Amino acid sequence: MQSAAPGPVPESWRDAMRLALAEAAAAVPAGDVPVGAVVLAPSGEVLSLGRNEREATGDPTAHAEVLALRRAAAATGEWRLTGCTLVVTLEPCVMCAGALVQSRVARVVYGADDEKAGAAGSLWDLVRDQRLNHRPEVVRGVLGEECAEQLTAFFRTR
Ligand SMILES: [Zn+2]
Repeated sequence: MQSAAPGPVPESWRDAMRLALAEAAAAVPAGDVPVGAVVLAPSGEVLSLGRNEREATGDPTAHAEVLALRRAAAATGEWRLTGCTLVVTLEPCVMCAGALVQSRVARVVYGADDEKAGAAGSLWDLVRDQRLNHRPEVVRGVLGEECAEQLTAFFRTR
């Protein structure tokens, strides 16, 4: 359950997580749970953003990660996001973990653990399942407290 990344967390991941937090906040006016995601190119350039839009669009698959992956693929013209990093405020669910494996991203960086539905180490560890032939690296807890607080604040008002 520990981070697989050796050494300190690169500042670029914190910057990307701040972007993801801002994107997550934009989900709230539509009544969506604030979850935000960013896809970084191998160079570190921001390829795409996504936020939870289930309520906004009435789409059960409109999770932040899925939307960000689709947009990154559209931006690059390539479904394989080789070498890319997905940064997301909340540990991915089973669906999103599956999408991460399918997209061949190199790495998923997440903020808050999801003890109830997380599929990157908490409840399942789908992304690093040894039976899969592509296993993204997982880095957890980047700006974890800020990410958890954003969700807690949202649910407190519900
Ligand atoms: Zn999801």
